Amino acid sequence: MYNNIKTRQSRFSHGSRSGGRSRGNFGGKKTSSVNPNLYVNRAKDQIAHEEVIIKHKFTDFGLDQQIVDRVLRRGYETPTTVQDQAIPLAMAGRDVIGSADTGSGKTAAFVLPLLHKMVRDRNQKALIIVPTRELAVQIDDEIRLFSAGLGINTATIIGGAGFGNQLRMLQRRPQFVIGTPGRLKDHLNRKTLRIGDFSNLVLDEADRMVEMGFIDDIRTIVSMLPAHRQSLFFSATIMPEVRGLINSFMKDPASVSVKTRDTSENVDQDVVKFTDAYSKFTSLNDMLADEAFKKVLIFGRTKHGVEKLNDALLERGFKTVSIHGNKSQPQRQRALQDFKQDRATIMIATDVAARGLDIPNVSHVINYDAPDSYQDYIHRIGRTGRANNKGIALTFVSHY
Ligand code: AMP
Repeated sequence: MYNNIKTRQSRFSHGSRSGGRSRGNFGGKKTSSVNPNLYVNRAKDQIAHEEVIIKHKFTDFGLDQQIVDRVLRRGYETPTTVQDQAIPLAMAGRDVIGSADTGSGKTAAFVLPLLHKMVRDRNQKALIIVPTRELAVQIDDEIRLFSAGLGINTATIIGGAGFGNQLRMLQRRPQFVIGTPGRLKDHLNRKTLRIGDFSNLVLDEADRMVEMGFIDDIRTIVSMLPAHRQSLFFSATIMPEVRGLINSFMKDPASVSVKTRDTSENVDQDVVKFTDAYSKFTSLNDMLADEAFKKVLIFGRTKHGVEKLNDALLERGFKTVSIHGNKSQPQRQRALQDFKQDRATIMIATDVAARGLDIPNVSHVINYDAPDSYQDYIHRIGRTGRANNKGIALTFVSHY
């Protein structure tokens, strides 16, 4: 199948490895700083399987039996590496820093020990701070699955959703509050959320929150938490700013570093050269018409650009959905579900909206607009080639 794509692809990308120069301006006003040579890479023929020894079973952690039952009912048989290493530390009351990415099973790694605490002590409460609305909803879903019937309430406090429903969720005195920094601060300022007795803190995707400029908000929010607490941090990379947060928020933290397989090893990467907007769109059209492009995630730089592309592809009969910051939360969730459940075969997204999403079986990632940074690029292409499948990533670069 890949050969088909290569044949088709070769029409667009001659000598792509050497064609390294790029204007770097692919429709948006901003310029990408990424050298296009980095967009070309063959996936390894033999996909390397991680040699990790999992030491525990879910029954070994000392988790309340009701929680273990729900984990097993969910179909999780063996802990993932991050769960295997982080759960015992969290159960022992340690602060934990996990360098682990989406797909590593990090959500259950912090949710299960917290849930255990809450089942044993109904006064325990946890604040989970995340960069995006979708990640908040994803974590909330996971908590609900593991806590069904246990009398645990959750509240998702995210921008783009109405205050009324959030107030109702908060009035039920939820044990878990999962939120994005801006909206959490709004509720704290209005005193509709009080966190003085939240003795558990999770920062998920801390690196992304720093990148998105949330660092001051996070500091303000965390300063309202009790000093005596357990803090769990997860971040794909521990950059200096994240290290700063760790030093000021955590006490003698234990580190767990999960060597996530190098995503790019599983992903065939190539460029698609274009000369003008028309040739760019035509190339995209041709690709999407190829049945090998089964489930495609397309990245655009701006909300407006994403919406325009979505409309243009819909007009041509493609089943697309789009996801970006101008859409309401229910619209974003609906789009995501349509794509996850294959009612739409193409999803067009901005970086922020797509961060951390767990979408199975994406066959292709297409960077219609180049990413701002190589780190963003790696995050984008990490949406395909998951779970030891091979994926394909194609990046449009201007050719002159
Ligand atoms: P996360 O990294 O938390 O977003 O999890 C990635 C995916 O792995 C989610 O779809 C989880 O439901 C799934 N998952 C997490 N832990 C396990 C496990 N121990 N066994 C099987 N699947 C898991």
